[in-house]
Formats: sequence, C-alpha cells, structure tokens
Amino acid sequence: MSGSVEHFDIVVVGGGAAGAATALGLARAGHRVLLLDRRRRPVFDEKAPVTRVATLNAASMELLAELGVRDAVLARRGHAFHGMDVWDAHSSAALHFDADDLGLPALGWTVEHLALESSLWEGLEAAGGTVLPETGWRALDWRADRIDLHLDGGRVLGARLLVAADGAESALRARAGIAVRRNPYHMTGVVATVATRFPHQDTAWQRFNGEEILAFLPLADGRCSIVWSLPEFESERVLSMDDTGFSEALRDALGGRLGDIVSTSPRVGWPLVGRQARDYVSGRLVLVGDAAHTIHPLAGQGLNLGFADVRALLEAVPVGAGVDPADPRALQAYTRSRRLDNELMLRSMEGLRWLFGSSLPPVAWARALGVGQVERHRILKRFFALRALGQDPAHPG
Ligand SMILES: Cc1cc2nc3c(=O)[nH]c(=O)nc-3n(C[C@H](O)[C@H](O)[C@H](O)COP(=O)(O)OP(=O)(O)OC[C@H]3O[C@@H](n4cnc5c(N)ncnc54)[C@H](O)[C@@H]3O)c2cc1C
Repeated sequence: MSGSVEHFDIVVVGGGAAGAATALGLARAGHRVLLLDRRRRPVFDEKAPVTRVATLNAASMELLAELGVRDAVLARRGHAFHGMDVWDAHSSAALHFDADDLGLPALGWTVEHLALESSLWEGLEAAGGTVLPETGWRALDWRADRIDLHLDGGRVLGARLLVAADGAESALRARAGIAVRRNPYHMTGVVATVATRFPHQDTAWQRFNGEEILAFLPLADGRCSIVWSLPEFESERVLSMDDTGFSEALRDALGGRLGDIVSTSPRVGWPLVGRQARDYVSGRLVLVGDAAHTIHPLAGQGLNLGFADVRALLEAVPVGAGVDPADPRALQAYTRSRRLDNELMLRSMEGLRWLFGSSLPPVAWARALGVGQVERHRILKRFFALRALGQDPAHPG
C-alpha cells in the first residue's frame, strides 16, 4: 500500500478562500503542496452575474498582496469603499466613518468569492502547487510521520501536514474528533445583489432594527450586495416574496436611505451559526477558516478572521530542508495566537447584537449615549475603524 502513496509536505482539503490562500502561501515558501476540493475549479467570468461577495479589511488585502494576487482580485470587480454609515432604527444612535477624515486609504473592499478563489488557485499553480478539483476523500490513516488520505478514486496522498479548510461543517474536524461549540442564532442571512434609485456613494450602509440587521455593500458596477439578517420565520416570508414585494420591503428596511430598489437578483438564505472549535490542532492536522470558527456576519469579519488564521499559520509552519512542517510547538503557537483572537471577535459580535437588538429602555438609552460618544470623538472613531480593518490601533499601518 505504501508504494502507491504520493507524498506531499502539505495537503490542503478545501479550496475556498482560506484553504487556497494557505496552499498558495505554503507553496511560495517552498513546500510541496496539493490542494483538493470536491467542487469544480473556480473560474471567474466577468460577463457572468455577481456571485457571493465578502468585505475584506486592510489586513486581508495586505495578505493578498504578499501572496501576489491582490491586483488580480481587484481587477475582477473588486471595489474599495470610503464611507460607512451605521444607524439604529429605534434610537438616535448613528455612526459615520469616512476614510479621508480618519487618514485611511479605504474602509474596506468588496470582493467576490469567485474572484478570490480563481486568483488564488491560479497563483498556486503558477507557484508549482498541484490542484485537484472535483475530488473528495473517503478515509484517513494516521501514521507517525504523515497522514494518508484515501481519495474517492483510489489514489492515496501522504501529507506531513494536513490542513482542514473544508468549511463550517468540516468533516476532517469531525474525523479528528475535535469538538466544536455551536451557537445557533436562529437567524438567516438573506443575500442578493440589487440596484438602487440613489447611488451608493462608495459607502457601506448598515441599519439595526431590533433583531434585524441589514447591510448594503457597494459594488464596482454601482449596485449593492445586501446581507439581511432576519429571524428564521421572517426570512422564510422574505425569501418567498415576489421581486416587487421584496424590493419594497428592502427599501423600507433601509429606511429609504438609497430610494427604491430598481432591480434584484434571485435571493439566497444562509443559516447563521456561531462556532468555535475546542482546539485548532490534532497531531498533524490543523484547522483554518470556517473549519475552526464562524461568526455572525454583522461586521463582515468571518473571512477576515480566516485570513488572519492563514497569516499566522504561514508564519508558524517551519521551512527548510529536513524540517517537519507539522512541528508540534509551531502548531501550538498557531492555536494560541488565533483561538483567543477569534473568541474575542465572536463574543464582541454577540455583545453588539445584544446591544443593538435589545429594545429595553435602559439599553436603548445606553446605546444612543455610547454610540454618540464614539461619533463625537475622532480618536475613538479611528480606534474602532482600525480594529475593524484588522490593524492594531496602537501601531497602525
Ligand atoms: C451571509 C454571509 C455573509 C458574509 N459576509 C462576509 C463578509 O462580508 N466578510 C467576511 O470576511 N466574511 C463574511 N462571511 C463569512 C465568509 O463567507 C466565510 O468566513 C468564508 O467564506 C469561509 O471561507 P473558508 O475558505 O474557510 O470556507 P468555505 O468558503 O466554506 O470553503 C470550504 C471549501 O471546502 C470544500 N469542501 C468541504 N468539504 C469537503 C470535502 N469533504 N472534500 C473536499 N472539499 C471539501 C468546499 O467545497 C469549499 O470549497 C459571510 C458569511 C455569511 C453566511
């Protein structure tokens, strides 16, 4: 059996943005890397409609630049935005961020997952890595010096380090026996691409209305990608509306800020669940991205945290002849650096959701007062903006 094993330093399972970025970074560092995904190879077609979109922060864009794909991603309908308006439907609480006022080049970038994944896969192949689309695995053998991955077609891959980047319901995480804490929000994120009567002004718009949170994210073609977090029963109603009913409900949910919704794409609903894996490492297997954690999309941080995992893992994995890429001390350092940070973000998002979701008068009052303080003080605004951009407010840039 051993004779038929194909040996790699690193095998990455899951070619979403987190897995593909990990594979590319490790290949560029000189490791022999293979990336596999059960999906078809991601191909970007600029004539095709806009697909799933994420907002990325400055730290994520920096990682993409270091991986040599930032320009390719931005050329594929990526878009920088310079303003951010956040307000509460039930109090006077409102925040406006402006990149120029804060001395920042941009507040964020909207990019399509397909643009990210296709650029990263292409980069990986150019760096000498191997890609295997439309491929799954059926069994694992844990050996002292490697993990053998038995693929559906009968091939066997030997990995000194196995990266599980197979998403929120990671089968590798389950197979490794890593427990996960789940916090179902009983909410659905309704996602669509819409055109609005008034221009988006290169601004990300977000309105809190009790439990409902609605975000309009500006796209390069003048339209917006929307994420509307709704209680499950409400999302079923919204998903089953016709386009006219949906457009009217969406206009009203944003308080008419961008006028009528002129056109809408079909809608998709994502169940929202917070997750945190108990450990990010088990022997030679390591988790990154959604396989390790998921959070509420209210601040658009899920993939940004995934990219922070990627950066930490690239820094931790040893490089050079004769080194073991799964060195236990290196992998423990990775877990330590990322698990706490992800937990803090998970808890902050839950706190924010509670703060804005509560209609109790003292909470509504505190909300207006607290947000008002941030709005009035440039230094506080800069602090929050830098945190959201993935930068250390004490050492920006
Ligand atoms: C509504 C919504 C809006 C969001 N908005 C933002 C945002 O604005 N900004 C942001 O930073 N984040 C956002 N997120 C979070 C972000 O989408 C995720 O964090 C990110 O996509 C996770 O990337 P990943 O590569 O870890 O996982 P995934 O993208 O889920 O990729 C996992 C890959 O693994 C493959 N796979 C799974 N199982 C197997 C298997 N057995 N064999 C082979 N391959 C397998 C899958 O095919 C897939 O390609 C949002 C999330 C939601 C739900």
